[in-house]
Amino acid sequence: MGRYAMTGGATGIGAAIRTRLRAAGHELIVVDIKDADIVANLGTADGRRAALEGIRARAAEGLDGFVPCAGVNGNIPDRALVPSVNYFGTVELVAGLRDLLAARKGSVVLVSSNSAPHPTSEDYVQALLAGDEARARQLAVSMDGHPVYSGSKQALARWMRRQVPDYAQTGVRLNAIAPGYTQTPMTAAAEADPELGDAVRRFLAATPVGRAGQPEDQAEAALFLLGPASSFICGALLYVDGGFDAMSRPDAI
Ligand code: NAD
Repeated sequence: MGRYAMTGGATGIGAAIRTRLRAAGHELIVVDIKDADIVANLGTADGRRAALEGIRARAAEGLDGFVPCAGVNGNIPDRALVPSVNYFGTVELVAGLRDLLAARKGSVVLVSSNSAPHPTSEDYVQALLAGDEARARQLAVSMDGHPVYSGSKQALARWMRRQVPDYAQTGVRLNAIAPGYTQTPMTAAAEADPELGDAVRRFLAATPVGRAGQPEDQAEAALFLLGPASSFICGALLYVDGGFDAMSRPDAI
């Protein structure tokens, strides 16, 4: 059995991944802001440091895989949290666990989004890719919620693709899933909203496969990329979105 770590395992997609890994008998270290083995706020540098220290203390002999799944959407009151949690809460942890992952030829599955290709601010994405958290946070509060969110997920996918050769040379595979609309606590508020609810239902009706994603759909894809069945797949951004991206951008390959 393997030893894995993940973030965002308390609810939604992360909870489905947690359930599957534990049901398969793997040892799993969960970091989250609540209901976790290591309770840490990934929106702060201190929280990320505590998360890394906690994982390292429990996995000194190495990790077979890591799934940084914690994230927040763009509609939260403090939009500066979006770059901090979604981007820095992911890349700092992947980088900080790299040696443990290399020790066991581990695999990393990031959680981007099918909104990653949406229009956003290139300045914002560049601030993220440059590791300039203060600038990214400053830009985020002046932007609309959706481009703040989609930009964080675009930067994650671009960061992942840039790191692939270097990590692969030490035996660590990096891949990402790009979920489409998936019914979790993150999306429940929009569905219940009297104004947004109808728009969400129209959006879902337009999904080619005709339904919303479920956390298990995302967990299935993440576990495939995490495990040995995908050992030659490296640098993939796997759209798990019922065909929405193909419908929206048929010529983008
Ligand atoms: P969710 O709200 O159910 O799960 C998010 C998890 O992250 C929770 O366990 C939460 O406690 C944790 N978290 C939030 N802020 C944190 C912080 N500051 N520190 C530590 N943990 C924190 O939502 P979800 O839909 O399951 O989202 C999981 C991932 O999937 C996120 O990265 C999200 O951006 C991504 N995603 C979701 C959808 C969707 O439609 N649901 C679509 C694309 C991408």
